[in-house]
Amino acid sequence: MNKAFKFRLYPTEEQKKMILMTLGHNRFLWNRMLQDKQEHYAFYQTHLYNRPAQYKDKYPWLKDIDSLSLANTQLALEKAFKAFYAKKSEIPKFHSKKQDYGYTTNLVNNNIEIVDGYLKLPKLGKIKMNKHREIPSHMTLKHVTVSKTPTDKYFVSLNFAYERDTIDIEVKETLGLDFSMTHFYVDDRGSKIEYPQTIQMDFLKLKRLQRSISRRTKSSSNYKKKQKEIAMLYERIKNKRDDFLHKLSNTIAKGYDSVTVETLDLIKIAQSNKHFAKQIQRFGWQRFITFLKYKLENQGKRFIHLSQWYPSSKTCSSCGEVHGELKMKDRVYQCPSCNYSIDRDINAAINIKRQGLIILGFA
Ligand SMILES: [Zn+2]
Repeated sequence: MNKAFKFRLYPTEEQKKMILMTLGHNRFLWNRMLQDKQEHYAFYQTHLYNRPAQYKDKYPWLKDIDSLSLANTQLALEKAFKAFYAKKSEIPKFHSKKQDYGYTTNLVNNNIEIVDGYLKLPKLGKIKMNKHREIPSHMTLKHVTVSKTPTDKYFVSLNFAYERDTIDIEVKETLGLDFSMTHFYVDDRGSKIEYPQTIQMDFLKLKRLQRSISRRTKSSSNYKKKQKEIAMLYERIKNKRDDFLHKLSNTIAKGYDSVTVETLDLIKIAQSNKHFAKQIQRFGWQRFITFLKYKLENQGKRFIHLSQWYPSSKTCSSCGEVHGELKMKDRVYQCPSCNYSIDRDINAAINIKRQGLIILGFA
């Protein structure tokens, strides 16, 4: 199993220059190799396997930076093409200076070390690092990714491998979650988690800023100022959101032995309800699922993802009949067969939980 720890770095001016150069050279290599692959494909209709070494001769300054980072950029590009050929993602795009992709380097012969308050990296030496949490001693460092945010903050993600030693625990407390339009989720016990208001407000503010920047000319100092403001606000939203998602998933993973969720068909939702689709994306539903899954599985607990076609909202949780009449706007489920009436989302959550129990072999 793998686990990553992300810490903030405080490089000196000299180190900042080297990091920026490494990011720049890797961006150059990515774009150069991508362009050559595209041209080769246009000509021969086959995939070109190019390597960093071929470019080091032509562009000797590529040798000035950590060579492992270039090898990782090549691997990432090949991986992106593999996913594209397997129809799992879009065609790899050129990297621009505006976005930060980070650079990755591997642990080889003690070239990377964590020594009190510092991280030693190839070509950079010791960089001040805020290691705000302990790393368990049974974990082995594999690779690190250095990145810079648009607001000029530097981070490192340290990636570790470890043996999984948890044993599956007995399932006693189970929970079903329904993601709803009005709430982040509703569970089968009737608790409803609101979309956080402060993040909702920040998104409105972001929208206003984006609208105002679109009216300004690109070269003006006001434009740059607004651009910075947007980057800072966006970073704040992301931090607040991660905080919200971590707290929520921690509480659930602590209190329950198995959790069942439905799978959302995001494409279908986007077609039928743009507002709902936006809410899901903004509040990081996918991220929440990832957090919840690894937090449960790390403790030997169960995480069950139902298939997309399971009719959780249309099934009556009292008699089990399925009714096709329920509309998106109907907030109450009223069963025509048994006359049972219940909150729409709680009804769905109960069905989701039950379906999870069936999968576990308990019902
Ligand atoms: Zn019924």
